Amino acid sequence: MREKILIVEDEKELADILAAYLEVEGFTPIIALTGEEGRACFASNKPNLILLDIMLPKVNGFDLCKEIRDKSDVPIIMISAKSGEMDKVIALGIGADDYVTKPFSPLELVARVKANLRRYNGTKSNVNTLVDKVVIGELIMNKISYVATARGEVLPLTTKEFDMLYFFSQNPSQVFSKEQIYNNIWGYSECCDDNSVTVYVNRIREKLSKYNLDYIKTVWGAGYKLSIESLM
Ligand code: CA
Repeated sequence: MREKILIVEDEKELADILAAYLEVEGFTPIIALTGEEGRACFASNKPNLILLDIMLPKVNGFDLCKEIRDKSDVPIIMISAKSGEMDKVIALGIGADDYVTKPFSPLELVARVKANLRRYNGTKSNVNTLVDKVVIGELIMNKISYVATARGEVLPLTTKEFDMLYFFSQNPSQVFSKEQIYNNIWGYSECCDDNSVTVYVNRIREKLSKYNLDYIKTVWGAGYKLSIESLM
């Protein structure tokens, strides 16, 4: 079955171009020209992925992203005309999976759509198969079910947060630069986005801190590492 991609974008011309590219790649595009329409299309069409512009009439992209995230873990890629770092930080902070800035090449966006769907579908289809556990101190991570527990309680991590923590857990005590972390989690070799790494590390730390687990250490000038040494 063709996967449905909801495009929420008020620039009709851009929306049509993206829809055409996605169609060629075997997806079924659905276009919504306002935030309100996007909300309705999300509810009625159950898309497999959402491309969400930030500056939209009626309901803006940030608000719609938050709203959708409350109900669904569908992959969301935000698109924006703004190139400010702050937007990127906000977008990832409210649960978007990825972010592109206009102008971008439609082919690059299609590649990101595929990468995000692959990751998302991979995490879903692996549930209920063999157990593949990593135990780090009070933290247990199950790569198959994508469930992490801290002191026996389920840690509410997003897929990407899980990927990052799991990446650290594979090489405890090894220091990774932000670039290494970025390339491992996002996998786009053409750019390195320090801010995304910082945002995710902070979010994971915040979630771990509720269990008094201070496992992710900053190594000044070098990057981050996972360490349980200073656990009290
Ligand atoms: Ca717009």
